[in-house]
Amino acid sequence: MRIDVVSIFPSYFDGLTLSLLGRARSTGILDLNVHDLRDWTHDRHRTVDDTPYGGGAGMVMKPEPWGAALDDLVSREPVAARPTIIFPSPAGEVFTQATARELSTREHLVFGCGRYEGIDERVFEYAADLGEVRLVSLGDYVLNGGEVATMAMIEAVGRLIPGVVGNPESLVEESHEDGLLEYPSYTKPSSWRERTVPDVLLSGNHAAIATWRRDQQIERTRRRRPDLLPDA
Ligand code: SAM
Repeated sequence: MRIDVVSIFPSYFDGLTLSLLGRARSTGILDLNVHDLRDWTHDRHRTVDDTPYGGGAGMVMKPEPWGAALDDLVSREPVAARPTIIFPSPAGEVFTQATARELSTREHLVFGCGRYEGIDERVFEYAADLGEVRLVSLGDYVLNGGEVATMAMIEAVGRLIPGVVGNPESLVEESHEDGLLEYPSYTKPSSWRERTVPDVLLSGNHAAIATWRRDQQIERTRRRRPDLLPDA
């Protein structure tokens, strides 16, 4: 998969050289390119923002650098090979594991990280003329910029690309994969600070373990996230 990220703070993404995604990049499974939006400006101050029409606090990201970035990263591609363009936004659809699964099937994603009060609305309209556009929210709260949201999405999507996680079975029994939260996990020692591992996990009875884990999933979900149960 190829991913292009446009941001005024490219160094936010330095952490994506680490761990599983770092290895996926070095083995060529993931081709991640981070671009500085200011490279598409043409004035001495490399300006990316201006005051909002209609007044109000804060600044708005200017459309011209974004238009030039989209021209370079999207519109030069043949129509059939154009990427899905994702703008992180607290006003977008909420990102879920299902969104991550869907996006992991794409060949090319472009993320546009907003800052300040956000991006001039015409940029989204222009992008929609070029290809598929998704405004995606990490949750119902406001971040300072799209970088952290983009990193979270890249990590959730990236680990679903075949070959990124060594043992694909470990992707199946995860929270949200079957609509429920995951069961509790334990490792050695079996007794630690007077707390013991549930007997059933030491029993070697695989059917009993599977039943216990399923019961724990349902009970945890009921207690912590009852909103998930109807769909599960
Ligand atoms: N004025 C905007 C609003 O109220 O919808 C918020 C702008 S926010 C300060 C700046 C940027 O942070 C946004 O353009 C977006 O890229 C990013 N952002 C903030 N909260 C986010 C969230 N919950 N999910 C995804 N991106 C978010």
